[in-house]
Amino acid sequence: MKWKEAQKERKLKLYKDAKKHPRYKGKVKNDGGYILIYSANHPYKDKHNRVREHRLVMEKHLGRYLKPEEVVHHLDGIKDNNRIGNLKLFKNHSEHRKWE
Ligand SMILES: [Zn+2]
Repeated sequence: MKWKEAQKERKLKLYKDAKKHPRYKGKVKNDGGYILIYSANHPYKDKHNRVREHRLVMEKHLGRYLKPEEVVHHLDGIKDNNRIGNLKLFKNHSEHRKWE
């Protein structure tokens, strides 16, 4: 097999789960248990154009983008329970720590 074909096959294997593909445009869960949403136009997107869903939910609620230092906490400790009633906003990490 040619090198190029072998590379292609290796990639296919790696991305057999389409959600693992860096250009996948749907909902994915990261290793930390947070849900990520494809948001190419977001100012604080990650390198794969994704933003954590709980931050998007809080932004929608507030009608503005969150500052990078702001922290969105899950009241029930469940990182994929992103209903607005389960989320609490803190100004920064030290405020978050004080509360916990
Ligand atoms: Zn917290």
